[in-house]
Amino acid sequence: MELRIENLSKTYPNGVKALDSVSLDIPLGMYGLLGPNGAGKTTLMRTLATLQEPDAGSVRLGEIDVLRQKDEVRRRLGYLPQDFGVYPRISAQDMLAHIALLKGITNSRERKEVVEAMLRRCNLWDVRKKALTSFSGGMRQRFGIAQALIGNPHLLIVDEPTAGLDPGERNRFYNLLAEIGEQVIVILSTHIVEDVLDLCSRMAIIHLGKVLFEGSPDDAITPLKGRVWQRSIAKSELPAYEESYQVISSRLVGGRPFLHVLSARPLNGGFTPSSPDLEDVFFAKIRGWN
Ligand code: ADP
Repeated sequence: MELRIENLSKTYPNGVKALDSVSLDIPLGMYGLLGPNGAGKTTLMRTLATLQEPDAGSVRLGEIDVLRQKDEVRRRLGYLPQDFGVYPRISAQDMLAHIALLKGITNSRERKEVVEAMLRRCNLWDVRKKALTSFSGGMRQRFGIAQALIGNPHLLIVDEPTAGLDPGERNRFYNLLAEIGEQVIVILSTHIVEDVLDLCSRMAIIHLGKVLFEGSPDDAITPLKGRVWQRSIAKSELPAYEESYQVISSRLVGGRPFLHVLSARPLNGGFTPSSPDLEDVFFAKIRGWN
């Protein structure tokens, strides 16, 4: 099965073009949708999740017309929105049972089995009786995945899931997603480059509603080989460098700006070659340089 998005466009009443003829083919597995804030990721995710209408375009999930057969989609969809609200003072176990009932698992014995399996799978078994309000960020996100997976969705959409997680929690969450990605189409929307690099075999970069790249992370990085140069400079030199070079990124290392610069020709004057990474691709793409 495949998710096929064709020429999807959306302009909000205030004139912002959030999606500008977006076309993507998304196969089974983990798919990274990478874009800076305001790129249009949430608009795209909400459209795929049948929560809002585009102005134009089409979306098919296998044989299903996503924009018209909304109930069919909802039966096959798991969605973890960015601001997933959890309910006070209900245990994880009771909440999952409630969600399972809403999703149509009316047989109580079956419901119990499904909930137990999901609690174990998402590593929440030990905390199943604790109130959701007491959960850490990582536990909440794993609970979010558990609720999204009830009903065995074919399509799982997760919007900015690792924001606010510490490195340990992020790792546990990655492992869970990677395991799920073997059986379902998982779309991971994020502005965090490592999320995509670590997890996704296919990806797209979107910016200002347009698709700037679609392919594998390797395909994205290869064209930059031999074209990225790095050096450390004094803070006061930064404006001059930004004027003279295509500065992809500048981050402070030991209090000094450390630059990554794009250049097809070798650069002298303190620059050394840098092997390109996905972050270089991302910043170069959104600046329109490759
Ligand atoms: P992302 O999730 O990548 O940050 P969004 O889809 O939330 O991007 O937003 C894309 C653009 O559309 C942004 O410029 C945002 O301000 C604008 N936008 C999003 N929702 C609305 C809305 N309901 N009304 C008007 N503009 C919106």
